[in-house]
Amino acid sequence: MRKVLTTCIYCGCGCGLYLTEDKGLVTGAYPSVNHPVSKGSLCVKGWNCHEFVNRMDRLTHPLIKENGAFRKATWKEAIDLITKKFKAISSETGADSVAFLSSAKTSNEENYLMMKLARAVYKTNNVDHCARLCHASTVAGLAATFGSGAMTNSINEFEEADCYLITGSDTTAQHPLIGSRIINSVLERDAKLVVVDPRKIELEKYSTIYLQQKNGTDVAWINGMMRVIIEEGLEDKEYVEERTEGFCDLKKLVEEYTPRYVEKITTIPAEKLIEAARIYATTKKAMIVYSMGITQHTTGVDNVKSLANLAMLTGHVGRASTGVNPLRGQNNVQGACDLGALSNVYSGYQKVTDETAREKFEKAWEVEGLPGNIGLTVTEIISGLDGGKVRGLYIMGENPMISDPDSNHVRKCLENAEFLVVQDLFLTDTARFADVVLPGASFAEKDGTFTNTERRCERIRKTVDPPGEARADWEILCDVAKASGYRGMDYTDPAEIMEEIREVTPIYGGMRYDRLDSYGLQWPCPSLDHPGTPYLHKEKFAKGLGTFMPRPFIEPVESPDDEFNFILSTGRIYWHWHTRTLTGRTSTLEREAPKPFVEIHPEDAEKLGIKDEETVKVTSRRGNVSLAARITGKVAPGSCFIPFHYREAAANVLTINAVDPVAKIPEYKVCAVKVEKI
Ligand code: SF4
Repeated sequence: MRKVLTTCIYCGCGCGLYLTEDKGLVTGAYPSVNHPVSKGSLCVKGWNCHEFVNRMDRLTHPLIKENGAFRKATWKEAIDLITKKFKAISSETGADSVAFLSSAKTSNEENYLMMKLARAVYKTNNVDHCARLCHASTVAGLAATFGSGAMTNSINEFEEADCYLITGSDTTAQHPLIGSRIINSVLERDAKLVVVDPRKIELEKYSTIYLQQKNGTDVAWINGMMRVIIEEGLEDKEYVEERTEGFCDLKKLVEEYTPRYVEKITTIPAEKLIEAARIYATTKKAMIVYSMGITQHTTGVDNVKSLANLAMLTGHVGRASTGVNPLRGQNNVQGACDLGALSNVYSGYQKVTDETAREKFEKAWEVEGLPGNIGLTVTEIISGLDGGKVRGLYIMGENPMISDPDSNHVRKCLENAEFLVVQDLFLTDTARFADVVLPGASFAEKDGTFTNTERRCERIRKTVDPPGEARADWEILCDVAKASGYRGMDYTDPAEIMEEIREVTPIYGGMRYDRLDSYGLQWPCPSLDHPGTPYLHKEKFAKGLGTFMPRPFIEPVESPDDEFNFILSTGRIYWHWHTRTLTGRTSTLEREAPKPFVEIHPEDAEKLGIKDEETVKVTSRRGNVSLAARITGKVAPGSCFIPFHYREAAANVLTINAVDPVAKIPEYKVCAVKVEKI
């Protein structure tokens, strides 16, 4: 039995693990003892991350749809058809008539090539990926306040922090290896834990104080905390004076957010808000940890900016075991952003609107006329299919039919797509709408790198061959570029792609494969002699002075009314990942959580006469689903929660596609629904 060191495919923790191989099959996974994140542990998803690789329903040949049915095709046929259609559409109605969705599941090298294919070959910035749906608010909010939109500190620094403010992150479910560090700190070192979440997450059991806010009222409680801190003189005056700008504006704006006023908006008792503010402000090493409960709102950027304000006010940024730590969801969502699979930036967050950056990439890629307009985002691309603004779409490793908001609208758009290409491991719900389906290789079948939530770029390594004729995504993208007439995407292996990435991406300047060999490096890593950066903003912020950006509270777009009288929030559970295309094909995980459910409070269940596990109907203005009721005190009365993993009762049939005006992230966390006994 052979063992190969690689990186977990699921969450942004990026645990190091060994895949075992026997007779050409992946037979198991076990943790690396010396890896800085996993340290000999994995969560249940990591222990079972090999199982889907061997599934018999993997895609093994290209498919072309003819007369409504798929037929097997050769690679040449499939790629010729794609390039013929994309070139025709592009020349008929302009470069922005085609679009590309990249993937947080594929490698850094593949994300770089996807954006290169879109920009250098097809001359469009219509390239985006699912970070738009999870942490686009973080990228925008932290870049504006700190100058860099990434997690400020390292996972190991969690072991030394004295206080955690956790909000909008079900950490033990989504980032279990980080959750376990927090629990250990509370139990073994008496660290303080402040949990602010509309739903009682597992960490609430260990919390020093728990604040249950009404969904969508985050700016109000954060402003309220800052008002308490300023009123009681608990701000770090020296830090504010020396390292920040805009304090007077902040002080003026938060004045109105008295604890009593905040209580009216959020339902958080005033005394609890005051106590939580004191704990966070007076602890020396205090970390803010958040995730999509903060970002997935029409005010997602405001929420992030407000958390950044709170951290700067108390001087909790720029030191070890402090900071503002957005936990990135998917294994390589950080890397996909870093490598420019976003509609507004090249790799390393170099803006497409910046002429100097465009000239630099034109020279590196040996092309002319790179577009300077910001491209369409995920939701705009999908909506663009209906009505012909986007006529050709190439999706690599994403499943918008289940993951995007307002599924009925998404279905209509996909049905109306003039030409759709899907490259994936399985025939997903999205792939069924495609004109051409291309079989990709899984993480166990190719070389490359992922970048985890703490900015650690680390290796994945080929353990087995892909099944049938399936190929690594980077090889497929290179062939599409070549067939399109472009000669600048001809590489022998991913290491060569990384050499090009290093040259054009300053934060990845020192990321050569031999240097990444053991457990990777954390960016910024600008040169080959740089050791990487465990925490950001040490002596000054990436933008110089940190900028306070005070934001007023704004209500969510859709509030409950007489007919739709519940607030629905969606999220993930411990056992599954994203749209369940991988975890749903893993027997251990599927056995533990085989079916969809809606959590409702016992008081509401009693009023509606609903029993535990009884099937109920949940309806919003956009559609309805039927699923089992789970009666629990985790949610507040008048609220309910549905995990979005299940195609059988897709939560996104109900969600609203209203977006944050800056980040264009949808408001997955708040919409109005009714719950009915069937
Ligand atoms: Fe994989 Fe995340 Fe679990 Fe680690 S914590 S094993 S990266 S899913």
